[in-house]
Amino acid sequence: MDDVWDLVVVGAGPAGSAAALRARQLDPGCRVLLLDRAAFPRDKACGDGIAAHARQELALLGLPGLLDDHRPTPRLSVTSPGGARVSAVVARPNHVVPRRVFDARLVEAARARGVEVRRHRVRTLTALGEHVVIDGHLVARAVVAADGANSAVRRLIGVPPSPDRHTAIAVRGYADVPPDDDEQVIVMQSEAWPAYAWSFPVGDGTANVGYGLLLPMLRQTGRPGREILHGRLARLLPLLGEVRSPVRDLRAHHLPLSSGRPVPGAGRVLLAGDAASLVNPLTGEGIYYALLSGRLAAEAAIGSPGDPLRAYRRGLRRALGRHLRTTDALALAARSPGFIDAAIAVAARRTEVFDLLVDVGLGAGTVPPRLAAAVALRWLKNFT
Ligand SMILES: Cc1cc2nc3c(=O)[nH]c(=O)nc-3n(C[C@H](O)[C@H](O)[C@H](O)COP(=O)(O)OP(=O)(O)OC[C@H]3O[C@@H](n4cnc5c(N)ncnc54)[C@H](O)[C@@H]3O)c2cc1C
Repeated sequence: MDDVWDLVVVGAGPAGSAAALRARQLDPGCRVLLLDRAAFPRDKACGDGIAAHARQELALLGLPGLLDDHRPTPRLSVTSPGGARVSAVVARPNHVVPRRVFDARLVEAARARGVEVRRHRVRTLTALGEHVVIDGHLVARAVVAADGANSAVRRLIGVPPSPDRHTAIAVRGYADVPPDDDEQVIVMQSEAWPAYAWSFPVGDGTANVGYGLLLPMLRQTGRPGREILHGRLARLLPLLGEVRSPVRDLRAHHLPLSSGRPVPGAGRVLLAGDAASLVNPLTGEGIYYALLSGRLAAEAAIGSPGDPLRAYRRGLRRALGRHLRTTDALALAARSPGFIDAAIAVAARRTEVFDLLVDVGLGAGTVPPRLAAAVALRWLKNFT
């Protein structure tokens, strides 16, 4: 057996790298091992949209300038399923950075902070008193499982996968766009609702374009997933702005939505990011929640080694409790596309509502009762 690691992190996406970075930030002497089955840089199916809220997390992790060489994306346009549209400058700009670049930078930053990074696919896990043994030879005081939507560690500790009704699936690709395109475009679809297509310009004359929907809606079609996802993206492309080339590098993946989140771990194993089903059910945004939960998991593992899970649950509740209850409720209301039509129509008229919806969709925002009432009123009016 190896020596004992203070923390072993499984998966080096944003959640895992954030956990490793935070652990060494809190205790520069602690031994942290970051495992990933892939060699970095590696691609990951994603829209590559990095919200301002995620950059705030990067700053907390001591990496405020990680994306400074990438152009910010100041505008966001959202079209509702019924055609209401808002296009406005966001209060704090988002970024669009391909995951091949973003994730590799995080891993490099972790390595530079003294984290040991190894290529290793985790297959087994055993609780042994105050330790966890991985694959028979890696011994850890605590484990952060950040191994993504189809988390093997989650399965190994007996936490069931997200139910289909709380899982989305989306495809993304890249296409050429005008180099000065600086607007993130989201076009929601009433067909197979809830569903939407997007174009997120990278800033180098290309954009990440994609289409996603709930897994049961895809299954209902009875057709191969690839045919539906690729076909609908091709059909919706003309709505996404000036796309100048065919879409290349198509890649799809599941999004486990927070409306179906499980207990966030067992014993000394803490689930973070997609492994904890923390993707926003309204937008499909997951990077911010991955960075945040990874950070909180490390804080619990290093700060409360006696009972890290209890500390982690408390941390998650403080940071995201109200927000998650808000998005649970909104995801239910949004089953009626008319609710989203009303919300976007209100946001188009009132900047503070637009800003608030951005905070709810991309960050830890909540909805004040007065605003909920204004949207509900408009929604009801549309019925009468
Ligand atoms: C098409 C699509 C578009 C999206 N668009 C956006 C967007 O624009 N903005 C946004 O914020 N979010 C978006 N998301 C969600 C976002 O991609 C995820 O929420 C985010 O990647 C979660 O990060 P993570 O670190 O939890 O997991 P991941 O990024 O999936 O990283 C998990 C890592 O674990 C490794 N791993 C897996 N199994 C093992 C194992 N057994 N042993 C060792 N390593 C293992 C993998 O190789 C991987 O590197 C999108 C998702 C999809 C599918």
